[in-house]
Amino acid sequence: MLGARQFIRNFSTSKVSWDKLKIALIGQSQFGAEVYKVLKQKHEIVGVFTIPDIQGRADPLAQTAESDGISVFKFPRWRKKGQVLPEVLEQYQSVGANLNVMPFCSQFIPMEVITNPKHESIIYHPSILPRHRGASAINWTLICGDKKAGFSIFWADDGLDTGPLLLQRECDVTPEDTVDTLYNRFLYPEGIKAMGEAVDMIADGTAPRVVQTEDGATYDPMMKKKVAEISWDQTAESIHNFIRGNDKVPGAWAMVDGQEMTFYGSKLWSGSKPDGSTVDIPGMTSQAIVHNDGLVLFGTDGKMVNVGQLQIDGKMIKASKYGQAGDDVQLELTEEELAMADTIKTIWMGILSREDIQDDTDLFKCGAGSMDVVRLIEEIKEKCNGLQLQNDDVYMATTFAEFIQMAVFQSRGGGKKEFIFDAVHTQSNNMDLTIPYQLFINNEFVDASNGDTFETINPADESVICKVSKGTKDDVNRAVQCAKEAFYDGEWGKMNARDRGTMMFRLADLMDEHKEELATLESIDSGAVYTLALKTHIGMSIDTFRYFAGWCDKIQGKTIPINNARPNKNLTYTKREPIGVCGIITPWNYPLMMLAWKMAACLAAGNTVVLKPAQVTPLTSLKFAELAAKAGFPPGVINIITGSGSVVGQAMAEHIDIRKLGFTGSTPVGRTIMASSSANVKKISLELGGKSPLIIFNDCDMAKAVRMGCGGVFFNKGENCIAAGRIFVEESIHDEYVARVIEEIKKMKIGDPLDRSVDHGPQNHRAHLQSLLDYVRVGVEQGATLAYGGKQVDRPGLFMEPTVFTDVEDNNFIAIEESFGPIMCISKFQDGDMEGVLRRANNTEYGLASGVFTENLSKALRVADGIEAGTVFVNTYNKTDVASPFGGFKQSGFGKDLGEEALNEYMKTKAVTVEY
Ligand code: NAP
Repeated sequence: MLGARQFIRNFSTSKVSWDKLKIALIGQSQFGAEVYKVLKQKHEIVGVFTIPDIQGRADPLAQTAESDGISVFKFPRWRKKGQVLPEVLEQYQSVGANLNVMPFCSQFIPMEVITNPKHESIIYHPSILPRHRGASAINWTLICGDKKAGFSIFWADDGLDTGPLLLQRECDVTPEDTVDTLYNRFLYPEGIKAMGEAVDMIADGTAPRVVQTEDGATYDPMMKKKVAEISWDQTAESIHNFIRGNDKVPGAWAMVDGQEMTFYGSKLWSGSKPDGSTVDIPGMTSQAIVHNDGLVLFGTDGKMVNVGQLQIDGKMIKASKYGQAGDDVQLELTEEELAMADTIKTIWMGILSREDIQDDTDLFKCGAGSMDVVRLIEEIKEKCNGLQLQNDDVYMATTFAEFIQMAVFQSRGGGKKEFIFDAVHTQSNNMDLTIPYQLFINNEFVDASNGDTFETINPADESVICKVSKGTKDDVNRAVQCAKEAFYDGEWGKMNARDRGTMMFRLADLMDEHKEELATLESIDSGAVYTLALKTHIGMSIDTFRYFAGWCDKIQGKTIPINNARPNKNLTYTKREPIGVCGIITPWNYPLMMLAWKMAACLAAGNTVVLKPAQVTPLTSLKFAELAAKAGFPPGVINIITGSGSVVGQAMAEHIDIRKLGFTGSTPVGRTIMASSSANVKKISLELGGKSPLIIFNDCDMAKAVRMGCGGVFFNKGENCIAAGRIFVEESIHDEYVARVIEEIKKMKIGDPLDRSVDHGPQNHRAHLQSLLDYVRVGVEQGATLAYGGKQVDRPGLFMEPTVFTDVEDNNFIAIEESFGPIMCISKFQDGDMEGVLRRANNTEYGLASGVFTENLSKALRVADGIEAGTVFVNTYNKTDVASPFGGFKQSGFGKDLGEEALNEYMKTKAVTVEY
């Protein structure tokens, strides 16, 4: 940048009063055209000198000037054998310019022209001179890893970029910048403005001429394909700089598998090494990895770079598809989208100056260049409802048919735009974690309306993980409003069911890709043992999204025979429609899985949603929101409001525009929700508490009954809604069963949930641990025998010993109330008293799950028939599956999660009767 000391105020123009300048504009491109538009506002453009038409198409500068009736000259060249062409010089002189302005000029302009006007010539150069003189300045700024980029306007010289400086501007280079982003966000828009300012300074006599120093000067060669071969013998950052510095032109390349492969869309990769297939790249220290999000390359420092696209044999492909056959789904176009396709065809006709645009017409093979890409994007934005495409989108879909598919996909919200949000960056479980911490409304992470936050705690050591926004009633209102707009007016409401499914599959894939990060977050936020979090909390969440994604295009009504009204006939059919804006409120025991069980069905049915996670475990819901935005869910479809039940949950239950509320939590809160939901008679489903009986007969497979009985109680440290809350054991095997259970417990390893060998992690939060200790105290006070455990573990964190009570009487508090912790309550029943034990098992207000262990099939089936519970496990326990309906009876609530039945919870049925 020009420093004060550098200024040699050797003005070329004596201070004159403001006067319109007579400008000759020498240059080309859209940039030239925009500079022209700025300058003509205050000055007189006496002539435009540009390049000849290419394939009958005039340069944008020529087009703009011609439409204003300005004289436009299109010289193929200005000189021959080093001598200016006299006829060219004469025509140039005829316009009588007193300043030459050269915004972007690819031709060599002779010094006779440069120095001809009174004020001589100024020229734009996209680097901070004297650094990166030469024709590929932006490329070199990136290749050299410069932290600053910028441009210079200088007094033109003989083409070596050494003339005195008039004005410079600079900006920071971010690790994500490419040639395109630097140009589009800074060099282009600021450059146009600065050219106007520079000319004004000349007009009012204040334009400096600062002699360029040679300190830090470089002259960099033009980047051409032959010098853009990647050397793998450098760090990941240098490889990234080289690739992005050549993105798009000329494209950094390497020989892979005997073919020239060009790499685009480079990003530094900070996550763990992705799973995928490997590719040998000669010279690279490790094998590259093709994975769901691209191709990971390795530098000599072992760090990684991810590229998004590859060009092989002239064809661009997604790097994630390298080595695979194409499997792109063809979108079916709605009428509105067909009209958009027609508009786009007209735009292509204009850009390519040809009438016949066929499906296989290729934009670039028909002569389009990079400025045409800019024009195409801008025209589409202007004429197709603000549809914002990116340069990459155009380069990846070069034929007309591919382009229409891509544009429609993007218009439905499947955008690949970079999603920027504030996040907490931390490390745990040997990985980098990126944790969104704000409310997610309309696809943006935002603070709560009053700025309030709360701390979320790691129960393994009670440390603070981060602060999270604490939503308000106003935030709920805003989220509901956005969800309503998304449902009634947005892309989601218009999307066909199959595309909805495709989007849900994409989200499931992204969750899969991030499963280790999600499982780590679940582990540190809820105390879940990591391996269980990976398999169940996250694994089943992914399965749930895949399962319901498959349902999207299989939601059908019926045709129903009704009485005909003679002489006419009738047809009655039903349609199953989404309800609208749904609310979901979840508990803390399986934070992401409870979200998935409800939200996947809710979205598959076509609704939009506002979800409140439990305040003590907000993190995986927020991470999920990030992934949903990245999967392309349109704004407003998914909204997450973190905060308390009494404020956020209550506001949702009472909200007039939430037409359905799915709730999982305790029975007392379920009752409150039922009352609050009466405000607008909303449809509700309640998955509430449980005290699930497990009956063990003396003819059972004992080893299995012990193992599964322990799993039934201690799985997820007992924080399991279907936990076996009461175990009834037949008298003749009771003592052996108790002894074997205690042996089994002694083998359980208690400790850091991130340790892969640990079985039993900390309880979810301090208040819960305290309630469990109180529960044990009451059990002892009422006379049950504490056979094992019962205390907090003597170590930091919220660990509770796995606990066993025996001699539990039916009227004991611990026989009636749910503990929701690792506490086994065992009661005896008399040998052979099947009716008696069934009566006792059903003598509860809950009815969520149940189990029976016996080798006798008819006993098992009689228990399954007689037990009043939504789920019965026979000779197994905890075996839930995404395809099997799940939900309770009695005060365990009503409505189902999972399976086809879950869809009904989020749909309404319309009956249509036609007379014909
Ligand atoms: P909870 O206290 O009932 O809380 C559940 C959710 O409701 C939380 O997000 C809570 O917000 C919110 N809430 C609290 N008061 C509210 C109100 N007035 N209006 C609206 N929402 C309100 O239950 P929990 O302690 O988180 O979870 C444990 C319970 O869930 C156990 O009873 C367990 O059996 C049950 N559960 C049942 C199933 C099932 O499928 N049946 C599955 C899992 C768990 P906060 O953030 O303020 O707590």
